[in-house]
Amino acid sequence: MILIAGGAGYIGAHTNKILTQKGYKTVVFDNLSLGHKEFVKWGHLVTGDLADIQQIRSCFSKYSIEAVMHFSAFANVSESVMDPAEYYVNNVSNTINLLNIMKEYGVKYIIFSSTCATYGDPEEIPMTENHPQNPVNPYGRSKLMIEQILKDYDQAYGIKHINLRYFNAAGADPDKEIGENHFPESHLIPLIIQAALAQRKEIKIFGTDYQTKDGTCIRDYVHVNDLASAHILALEYIKKKSNMSTSFNLGNNKGYSVKEVITAVERISGVKVNSVNAPGRNGDPVELIGSYQKAKEQLGWFPEFNLDQIIKTAWDWHVSNIDSWKNKKH
Ligand code: UDP
Repeated sequence: MILIAGGAGYIGAHTNKILTQKGYKTVVFDNLSLGHKEFVKWGHLVTGDLADIQQIRSCFSKYSIEAVMHFSAFANVSESVMDPAEYYVNNVSNTINLLNIMKEYGVKYIIFSSTCATYGDPEEIPMTENHPQNPVNPYGRSKLMIEQILKDYDQAYGIKHINLRYFNAAGADPDKEIGENHFPESHLIPLIIQAALAQRKEIKIFGTDYQTKDGTCIRDYVHVNDLASAHILALEYIKKKSNMSTSFNLGNNKGYSVKEVITAVERISGVKVNSVNAPGRNGDPVELIGSYQKAKEQLGWFPEFNLDQIIKTAWDWHVSNIDSWKNKKH
């Protein structure tokens, strides 16, 4: 049985679906604070909190867990700057609770949702796994701390880990069963789609005078199902091939500016989106692009969805869920 901590959230839910399709048995452990019960359509659900050691322990004693995939985290950069305490407690201490129960039950494998935010400002593009890790905000630092803790737990207790450093997760399940739904929403693609669907007035472009082709920030968008597939490859790799801890970047090796993403949404939706120029966000790196060479060589992973396909799946999901999500607290 695979334990999916945070499996009711965006990336965890997509991974749960693909794990199940591949024949894995899963149990989702989620406190449903940001996740959605409706997203847990596969496997078992344990509603529990990683802050509560006893709840984690009772989940491990009920199910026979062979590996953990750990998605539970707060992941909003601006929020982390305003309230770092929340980030260090929720992301770092709660992960320590999870690891300690893994240790207690002899569970030897963890696939950890890390981030390109652990690198900080890029010194080279595309970024490889060897790029120096100097995060520039508490969110990135909380994830780097966990990577460091994982290294120590490997050395001392033999718990093997793979850090998957995501670039910008986007898109939705092509079958439209699950998708991206944060509240409040802060991510570029869903915000543009909401503007196209008249659910918000406009999209603000954060910064228009950066040193890029059109003055706006560049990001590497990677489809959520590509991230999900990488988790499964990583699990197979760590169990069967390597028994060794390591890290992989998950990106497309390709960057798009904010304006290019807006144009792509307009093209795919056929709707003109209102955009307004706004000041750049504090601490926003100008350009983030990830090399996936190592994941390709060692996991056999490569991204299957390009930007248009990412946006198309996101658009289709939003359109099909307009009514069902409108009146919910989510
Ligand atoms: N962005 C923007 N307007 C928004 C939200 C985001 O211009 O309303 C920009 C943001 O500055 C960044 C890119 O879009 O350059 C992606 O932002 P997002 O928050 O989706 O992900 P991040 O890169 O911050 O993890």
